[in-house]
Amino acid sequence: MNEINRFKTLQAYQPQAARILQSGFINNRLSHAFIFEGPKGTHKLATAYLFAQRLLCTNVGKDDEPCGNCSNCVRISHGTHPNVFLVKADSEQIKKEQIKNLIIEFARLSVENGPRIYIVDEAERMNQDASNTLLKQMEEPSADIYAVLLTTNSNALLKTIVSRAQLIHFKPIARALIRENLLKEDVSELAARVIPEYTNNIEEAVKIARSKDLMAILDLVVDLYRIAGKKNQSMILRFKETSDRVMVNVATMDFFLTLMILFQKDLLYTLLQHHDQIVFTPEKALLEKLSKTTLQSTIQEMLEKMLALKSRLRYNLNYALAFDLIIAQLERGMQHGT
Ligand SMILES: [Zn+2]
Repeated sequence: MNEINRFKTLQAYQPQAARILQSGFINNRLSHAFIFEGPKGTHKLATAYLFAQRLLCTNVGKDDEPCGNCSNCVRISHGTHPNVFLVKADSEQIKKEQIKNLIIEFARLSVENGPRIYIVDEAERMNQDASNTLLKQMEEPSADIYAVLLTTNSNALLKTIVSRAQLIHFKPIARALIRENLLKEDVSELAARVIPEYTNNIEEAVKIARSKDLMAILDLVVDLYRIAGKKNQSMILRFKETSDRVMVNVATMDFFLTLMILFQKDLLYTLLQHHDQIVFTPEKALLEKLSKTTLQSTIQEMLEKMLALKSRLRYNLNYALAFDLIIAQLERGMQHGT
């Protein structure tokens, strides 16, 4: 389950977290409580398991990495080691009972030797009672117990909890890294350029690349611009062909609009010669052609309309009409330009 099984790998994704944790081990000055704060998809949980492996590994290498093969390492990566306890919300909230169970578990003599680690995933979901109970546990530190709280927002945690832990920020994964990962998955060059603009979550990026429907939307966007300005073809008809089939919810519509906005921005960047900002680089020839035949004011006006529609997407009830309208406007705008 753990795609990050070495600090060296973590270094590529979260250099700061890797540095802080590793130096804690090397200098033997490890904090007993950590808060990993960062957006979803930044490998907080994977890092917590790596941390546990490094603590419990019976065969730590000269490079200070957990071996990944000893019984402890293997059981941690399978989530079956009795010394590693994961608490996560089983409903909207993490309730007091869940934290109590954790404390009862840790009050028992451990079945196995070595440090024990508890991880609270989405710690911001702890309700007041749960937070207070956890705080009590943290106030009585024990040499062999480590806490790792994962959260998207440390401001949502009790200040007294935060003050007892070392806060480590997890940053959104760099686009280049997501792109690299996608290319390894045999994703097209275009998709590998575009998807990291939509999400900074590697797992989500791979999921998008594997979705036939979402990739059909990417094809649709490029096709629409290919058709733009051609008198014998209809953008509306091409749009309906795909949209009727795959644009079935707000998420898919949002994906479509985001790609349209990216392409529209690319048109502007092409026109302004900001080549390094272009996302649809494999479609450079098309961008060049359209930027020569469309007025800058039209490109900007359409871009504004798309952005406005995107911000209203969640509240707009008549999606079909809104999309038809914007495609029709785009079709007209592109023809005026020719
Ligand atoms: Zn090991």
